[in-house]
Amino acid sequence: MRVLIVEDELRMAGLIRRGLTREGLAADVASSGEDALWMAEAHDYDAVVLDVMLPGINGFETSRSLRDRGIWVPILMLTARDSVGDRVEGLDAGADDYLVKPFAFAELLARLRALVRRGDQERPAILEVGDLRLDPATRRAWRGSAELRLSAKEFSLLETFMRRPGEVLSRLHLLEHAWDFAYENRSNIVDVYIRHLRQKIGREALETVRGAGYRLRADA
Ligand code: CA
Repeated sequence: MRVLIVEDELRMAGLIRRGLTREGLAADVASSGEDALWMAEAHDYDAVVLDVMLPGINGFETSRSLRDRGIWVPILMLTARDSVGDRVEGLDAGADDYLVKPFAFAELLARLRALVRRGDQERPAILEVGDLRLDPATRRAWRGSAELRLSAKEFSLLETFMRRPGEVLSRLHLLEHAWDFAYENRSNIVDVYIRHLRQKIGREALETVRGAGYRLRADA
């Protein structure tokens, strides 16, 4: 198992590196986000330990850039303070887990092991289907380069479809995933919102499958 440590503070980087190598792991150190990007492109790392506070691009931007380049290596983010904002931003930027400094080395190791077990399958933070893009974190969506103006409910409905492109989703499935228990109990509510959504994303993108439900074309 080979780990990339991204940390500009030499003492901290050295400490983590020595700890990992003592456990028999291989570890390289990048002292900036920019270095981490080319190193992660050049080598197939099993995990990245990424500090948030870096000179140049910070840890959040580094994480986003790795994902943008199609690098899905598990990322454990190190944050300086236990701030909800930092943790949320890190996870939304594509990190898989985080650890607050100062941390116990045993916990860093345990979290790395857990991440590596999960592997590096694609898990994009932004959903893309055809020319549709949707960011669940900022609740924004686009068709091509044009931003869509969606109501909260239209957004949930589109997100539900974009998580299952090309699949026929029943009205019940759509109700269960896009509505909560407070929904108005009207049998045609799904059809009403499908109509709204079609006006915004294009009629042809959402197909009606008679007797079964609706399908977002995978090539939307
Ligand atoms: Ca740092």
